[in-house]
Amino acid sequence: MQRRRTAVRMLLTGIFLLTVAGARLAAGQELPEPEAWAALNQGDHARAASLFRQGLERSPRNAALHYGAGWAAFGLGNNDAAISSLKKAVEIDPSFAQAAALLGTVAYANGDLDLAIRSMEKASALVPRDVRIRQQLDQWRKESALHSSFAERPGVRFRVLFEGTQQQALGARVQQVLESSYWTIGKTLNSYPSETLTVVLYTNKQFQDITRAPAWADGGYDGRIRLAVGGAMRTPAALDRVVRHELVHAVIEHVAPRNVPAWVNEGLASVLEGPDQAWAARVLAQAREVFALEDLSDGFGDLDGREALVAYAESAVAAQLLVERLGPNLGVFLQMLGGGHSVDQALSTASVRPEQFHAEWRKRVGLK
Ligand SMILES: [Zn+2]
Repeated sequence: MQRRRTAVRMLLTGIFLLTVAGARLAAGQELPEPEAWAALNQGDHARAASLFRQGLERSPRNAALHYGAGWAAFGLGNNDAAISSLKKAVEIDPSFAQAAALLGTVAYANGDLDLAIRSMEKASALVPRDVRIRQQLDQWRKESALHSSFAERPGVRFRVLFEGTQQQALGARVQQVLESSYWTIGKTLNSYPSETLTVVLYTNKQFQDITRAPAWADGGYDGRIRLAVGGAMRTPAALDRVVRHELVHAVIEHVAPRNVPAWVNEGLASVLEGPDQAWAARVLAQAREVFALEDLSDGFGDLDGREALVAYAESAVAAQLLVERLGPNLGVFLQMLGGGHSVDQALSTASVRPEQFHAEWRKRVGLK
């Protein structure tokens, strides 16, 4: 499961309402570079980034412009650039609450819980009445307190956190699966992330508390991998699949941090999590209804357990087809999606005819 997009969007919608007002406030004058803000508002992050850059050449000490540049970079999936712009905005104008809040959000998405909490504390002190900021801060503090009680297996590529001695063996197993899958998944997607990825093992209850994921989820990726390992000792093979599934999400995000439809993301994670794919055919044979792929762009978090299973199955069939048709071009295909192209455009570039792809998918899932 991959829930970063929905979770982040919910918080950002709230913060975005304050964007323009915040910029005005910080600049203490008329809104600078109105066209850049308009582009941001329309979701055209590339154009906004370019306009903010031009504005900053004229006024390099304008906090609002750094804030806008940070927002645009975040929209483009460039978290490191976003963090550096937002730090600049807060440094120039320490009373810029929206910039501090956005910095916290981006830091969290980037897996840096400490910076996320520090920035959100700053924001909360500046606007103590903002309930969303306070609630977010509480949630992150809870997460931080829980993790600080965990033991850790440090590593170059993976840092595995788990609770006490009873999960020590599981931690070792998870680390081993991660290390070996890193190369096979990296080869298929043509990407080998170099940053250290944090992986946290939770009891099922902790997992629900921290992620607020739907009850059917047993793993998640939102900048770090979270795994619900209750009952995992009974079925270690099932845990291995979840580990590989979430690792695929992490690698995809490395290749294409934005604009990847959920069916591509979940489909590839489902196909690459393990060799046995017979489950998808079984699920589809019993399904009363199959969703259109374009209705599966935004994540499956709102579906109930039975619907979600069908969504995963048909996404897995589509992803299997992508793997077969694209072969070594799968990495380039993902890069194109991340660059803002549609699935059909990216398929065409790799000499796969979109209408043939969709016709074959319909056939395989049993649609006319
Ligand atoms: Zn997933």
